[in-house]
Amino acid sequence: MAEKEKSEKIPRQKMPEQEPAVRARNFNEVPLGLSPEAAIMEAGRCLQCKKPACVEGCPVGVDIPAFINRIREGDFPGAIQKIWERNSLPAVCGRVCPQEMQCEGKCIVGKKDAPVAIGNLERFAADYERANRKAVKPSKGASTGKKVAVVGSGPSGLTVAGDLILKGHDVTIFEAFHRPGGVLVYGIPEFRLPKEIVFSEVDGLDAMGARVELNTVVGRSVTIEELFAQGYDAIYLGVGAGLPVFMGIPGENFAGVFSANEYLTRTNLMKAYRFPEYDTPVIKGKNVVTVGGGNVAMDAARTALRLGAENSYIVYRRSKNELPARAAEVHHAEEEGVNFRLLTNPTRFFGDDKGRVIGMEALKMELGEPDASGRRSPVAVKGSEFRIDCDLVIIAIGAGANPLLTKSTEGLALNKRGYIVADQATGKTSRKAVWAGGDIVTGSATVILAMGAGRVAANSMHDYLTLGW
Ligand SMILES: Cc1cc2nc3c(=O)[nH]c(=O)nc-3n(C[C@H](O)[C@H](O)[C@H](O)COP(=O)(O)OP(=O)(O)OC[C@H]3O[C@@H](n4cnc5c(N)ncnc54)[C@H](O)[C@@H]3O)c2cc1C
Ligand code: SF4
Repeated sequence: MAEKEKSEKIPRQKMPEQEPAVRARNFNEVPLGLSPEAAIMEAGRCLQCKKPACVEGCPVGVDIPAFINRIREGDFPGAIQKIWERNSLPAVCGRVCPQEMQCEGKCIVGKKDAPVAIGNLERFAADYERANRKAVKPSKGASTGKKVAVVGSGPSGLTVAGDLILKGHDVTIFEAFHRPGGVLVYGIPEFRLPKEIVFSEVDGLDAMGARVELNTVVGRSVTIEELFAQGYDAIYLGVGAGLPVFMGIPGENFAGVFSANEYLTRTNLMKAYRFPEYDTPVIKGKNVVTVGGGNVAMDAARTALRLGAENSYIVYRRSKNELPARAAEVHHAEEEGVNFRLLTNPTRFFGDDKGRVIGMEALKMELGEPDASGRRSPVAVKGSEFRIDCDLVIIAIGAGANPLLTKSTEGLALNKRGYIVADQATGKTSRKAVWAGGDIVTGSATVILAMGAGRVAANSMHDYLTLGW
C-alpha cells in the first residue's frame, strides 16, 4: 500500500518536445526522448502488479513490469533485453503504437491518475541501447537447413524474419521498394519516426544473417511458384495494404489531387522535402486540404505545413470524438496549427482551365446512429454546401489490397475485398506452405497488430518446418 501511495504521488514525466511553431516548419523529430533520470522516475510509478493488465493490452505480450523494473534499477541494457524477448522493433513501437488504447489503456495506475508512460519508457530503453550498444542480442538456434522467403519488409515481415532466424532458419526478405521497412519508411514521416531508426532495427536483422533482396516485386520479378522451385520451404506474405483509395466524387482527377500514399511516399521515401538535393517533384500547396481523420491524414496535413502550406485543413465527416488517429497525433497537429474542419464531407472538386485543382465543395454533416463499425454515422445537412479554396488535396480515407501478388498466385483464397484469407490462430493461407499476416489480411491496421500476426505465423511456420503441415 505504501508503495502504491508513493507511485501515485509521482506525476507522469513529460517528454520534452520541439516548440510547435518551430517544428511545424522542419522535419526533425517532434518529441525529444526522456532523460535517464526522468525514465527512472517514470518507472518508479509502476506498481509491479502481480497480474499486470498492461501485458494483456500488448498484442505481442512484452513483459512490461519486468522491463520497467529494470529501468527503475538503472539497468537499461537489461530492460531492452527483456523487451527484445517479445518485440524486435521497440524504438518503432515506442514511437507509433496507439498505447492509449493498448498497454497504457489497461494500466491500473490510469484508473485514478495518468497511466504509466509505457511507450515512452520502451522508446527510452531502445534509444539508450542504440546510443550505447551494451545489451546482448538474443541467441540464435542451431541451423535447421530450411529456407524461408518473406515477401514484404514491413513490421509483419520483419517480425517473421527475426523470429525465424532465432529459430535457426535461413531467411530471405523480398522487398519491392529500394529501402526496407514498409509503411514505417514510405508512410510515417521523418518528424514522427526517423528513418535511421527503422534502418538500424533492420540492420539488426541483417547482422543476425537475414538477406534482404530490394527492388524485387514478387508476382512480377519472381513468382511464388518460382520461389518454391528455387528451394524455399515456406513463404510468408506480408505485403501490406498499399493500394490508394479515392472517394469517387467529381474532380478527383484534377492535377493537385493526390492519394496520401503517393504524397507521403514522394515526400518521405523519395525525399521530396530535401529539394533541390533530391530532385523528386511534389506540389507544395498554399491552401492544402487533407480528407480523412486517421494517422495517415494527420501525417499528410502536418507534412503539408512543413512543406510551406499557409493553411493546412483536415476535412473529416465525423466529430473530434470519432477521429481514428492516435490522440497524441491529433494534439500535435492542433498545436502546429492544422485547421480541423470537422463534420464536413467533400462533394466535388473544382479545377481551372488547365485542369489544376482550385477548390472543394463540401456539405456540413451531423451525427446519426452508430454504423456497423460502432461509430456514429454522419448524415448530410441538406442545403449546407460551402466552398473551401485550395491548390492541393490529399485523399487519406484508407487503403486497399494491392492485387499484384495475390492475383498472380494460384490457389490463394481471397475475401471479397481482395484481402488474403488466413487462419487467425496460425496465419496459414489456403495454399500449402504459404502464410500471410498484417494489413494484407486485416486491412489497414497498426504496426503492433502486424507484428502480432507475424509472431503467430512464425511459430506456425516453425512447427511446419520441423513437424510438417
Ligand atoms: C501514413 C501512415 C501512418 C501510420 N501511422 C501509424 C501509427 O502511428 N501507428 C500504427 O500503429 N500504425 C500506423 N500506420 C499503420 C501501420 O503502418 C500498418 O498497419 C503497418 O505498417 C502494416 O504492416 P505490414 O507489415 O502488414 O505492411 P507494410 O508496412 O505495408 O509493408 C508491406 C511491404 O511489402 C512491400 N510489398 C508489397 N507488395 C510487394 C510485392 N509484391 N513484392 C515485394 N514486396 C512487396 C511493400 O513495399 C512494403 O514495404 C500508419 C500507416 C500509414 C500509411
Ligand atoms: S498495469 Fe501499470 S502499474 Fe501495473 S504493472 Fe503494468 S504498467 Fe505497471
